[in-house]
Amino acid sequence: MNKTIPSCLKCASEYVYQDQSLFICPECAFEWNPLEVAAEDIIEVKDANGALLSEGDKVTVIKDLKIKASSQVIKIGTKALIRRIKDAKDHQLDCKVDGVGEMMVTAKYVKKA
Ligand SMILES: [Zn+2]
Repeated sequence: MNKTIPSCLKCASEYVYQDQSLFICPECAFEWNPLEVAAEDIIEVKDANGALLSEGDKVTVIKDLKIKASSQVIKIGTKALIRRIKDAKDHQLDCKVDGVGEMMVTAKYVKKA
C-alpha cells in the first residue's frame, strides 16, 4: 500500500485512492485536494473594510490607538508598514508605525492605504 496516501479526512477509511491531484474515499465519497487543504493554513487577516492584508502593505490607522504601558497614542490617520502578519486574535500586524516605531497593531483598526 502507498503510504503517501492518508486516511479519509471524514471517515478515516484506509481505502482512499488518488486520482490525479485528488484523494478520493470510496466509502463516504469524500474527495479532497491535499494542496487546497494546505492552502487553508495561510493566514488571512483583513482590514476594517474586509480587504486582505499582506506583508509589505501600507496601512492607515482608522482610530486613535493607545499604546500599552505608555501614555502615547497612535493618532487616527497615522501610516504604518506591515512587516509581518501573525496568526492571532488581535494584534496580528507587526508594523513599523510612522513616528512610533515597531508596534503590534490589530488588523480591524487599520485600512489599506
Ligand atoms: Zn471517507
